[in-house]
Amino acid sequence: MTVNLLHKILNSPVYPEEDKELIQKAYDFARRAHGEQKRFSGHDFIEHPLAVAYFLSELKLDANTIAAALLHDIIEDTSITEKDLKKHFGKEILFLVDSVTKLAKIKKAPHRDDNKDQALILRKMFLAMAKDIRVVLIKLADRRHNLQTLKYLRPEKQKRIALETINIYAPIAGRLGIGKLKGELEDLSFPHAYPDEYQNMMPRIKETIEDREQYIKKVKRTLEKRLKRNGVIPLDIHSRAKHYYSLFQKMKKKNVDASNIYDLVAVRIVLGDISKCYEAMGIIHTIWRPVPGLIKDYIALPKPNGYKSLHTTVFCEQEKIVEFQIRTPEMHHHAEYGIAAHWEYSESGKPKVSIAEQKELEWVKKMRDWKDAKAEEFVESLKIDFLSERIFVFTPNGDVRDLPVGSTSIDFAYTIHSEIGDQVGGAKVDGKITALKHPLKNGQVVEIIKSKKSKPTRDWLEFVKTSEARKRINSFLRKTS
Ligand code: MN
Repeated sequence: MTVNLLHKILNSPVYPEEDKELIQKAYDFARRAHGEQKRFSGHDFIEHPLAVAYFLSELKLDANTIAAALLHDIIEDTSITEKDLKKHFGKEILFLVDSVTKLAKIKKAPHRDDNKDQALILRKMFLAMAKDIRVVLIKLADRRHNLQTLKYLRPEKQKRIALETINIYAPIAGRLGIGKLKGELEDLSFPHAYPDEYQNMMPRIKETIEDREQYIKKVKRTLEKRLKRNGVIPLDIHSRAKHYYSLFQKMKKKNVDASNIYDLVAVRIVLGDISKCYEAMGIIHTIWRPVPGLIKDYIALPKPNGYKSLHTTVFCEQEKIVEFQIRTPEMHHHAEYGIAAHWEYSESGKPKVSIAEQKELEWVKKMRDWKDAKAEEFVESLKIDFLSERIFVFTPNGDVRDLPVGSTSIDFAYTIHSEIGDQVGGAKVDGKITALKHPLKNGQVVEIIKSKKSKPTRDWLEFVKTSEARKRINSFLRKTS
């Protein structure tokens, strides 16, 4: 099995000949270094780095990342030194391996509680991410394989790792837009993190999903016929069950049973171009009545992680509610692989634009400014700015601002300029004067009314959401007090 995975990587059309040599060299080096070492499962140790490398090769990451993945446990677990590694593989691979090793170095200390540990991991992850996001991708792939072999560990350890994954690693994968990996990490952790709930709920969820799949088959036939009749030929229509853990969350949050969750299975329609996507949505709405408020145009207004798609939820056959997701093949690829999609090799065999150049990754750069902040402050701000959902609001000129849910006109003002924030006298939201503490909604147009007489007050701190606004207000108050 081991050799098969290596062959799969080496046979991938993604890597040119010289990359393959590097990957083979890294594999041979790692295998020799790990020698007779075994995993808890009893398997040869080399199977672990190889599985990690294989997963990353499926995301089509560059050869240095694949080599670093093969070598990622070498410094920690073998007698190989950093100097050896640099001599054989150069600075970049050493940097990747070293950074992954340092991320792993947070060991459970008896005087620290789990939350504190998680805060430390989170902080390390983000600092690493700001330097080179590939480090975090290797770490996520490492975690994924460790979860697959979690059953060989002690139950307490299983639970701790599973919870840590759900609280930290999965949200990061989600924020990077790698929805597939986020779902996998959560589903692998679910039975270990919440064993009782898992036992209780799984049979019901499974049964409901099976029923639902039968039903969707019929829906697909109707849809296909109607699309074709209107000259819209889908490249693909498929449905995939929602991930179990996210279902469990939904059932818990809304306190409902699986049979009452309508979007258990979403139908995905992949079409050749954007205009066809809008056409298909129109056709769906002529067959089935849309549920008001659930038409979402993430093509015109992509999510902050770059996700694009049209979503609509309709009263479908037998008045049952079904969600449709409509997208082009590029959007589909991005939805599955997120940030990793940008690494894909162009035809020349060179990786496309570097990740730091991607405009949508502004937040990665922003994180560098946080290096000197206190750990708790840092983590708090990340939880709010980074891991929570975002809204998009507009300036009167139509510039878009991306803010955490719950943000107010004050938060908005500070994203434009700190001086504007300091002089907010009032705000018009969609043309109406609105209280400053009022939370903004997606799509609203916000106009700030400046006033020389106004200045930040302590009560603003009660309702602002962004750490940026909080920082500015505090510094204004300090200066004037
Ligand atoms: Mn590892």
